Amino acid sequence: MIRIGHGYDVHRFAEGRRLVLCGEEIPCGEGLLGHSDADVAVHALMDAVLGALALGDIGKLFPDNDPAYEGADSMKLLAQVTALMRREGFDLGNADITVIAERPKLAKYIPKMRENIARAFGCDVGCVSVKATTEEGLGIAGKGIAAHAVVLLEKK
Ligand code: MG
Repeated sequence: MIRIGHGYDVHRFAEGRRLVLCGEEIPCGEGLLGHSDADVAVHALMDAVLGALALGDIGKLFPDNDPAYEGADSMKLLAQVTALMRREGFDLGNADITVIAERPKLAKYIPKMRENIARAFGCDVGCVSVKATTEEGLGIAGKGIAAHAVVLLEKK
């Protein structure tokens, strides 16, 4: 059995915050605002997995008014989501993440971002794609960073 899921998230830029994408801290003059570490790519990915399982979304699982998740490491939240996925009997087939950002340039961080996600799922790095694009200055990406994620889950 296979299940497909899609996730989308966006966080606005804020000064004095770290920029963390796919668990990788990226040097940048600003970071993203959020209750957790605001790892927008991992948030989209978790929503894709939860969507494939029809188990709601991360807002339901990790409410942003719950102090337990203040400054939370999104990779730790992802570990909870992958545990849920396994409990339902599924493994990751593949994941495809698109990060939409006018800045900073992400190309050199993408190999580490893919490795971090592959490690979280215990899968081959070849099953994890991370891509970056801009909106050519036309969209919301100048004010923050957005991410889409699509996953295929497999039940053996
Ligand atoms: Mg989010």
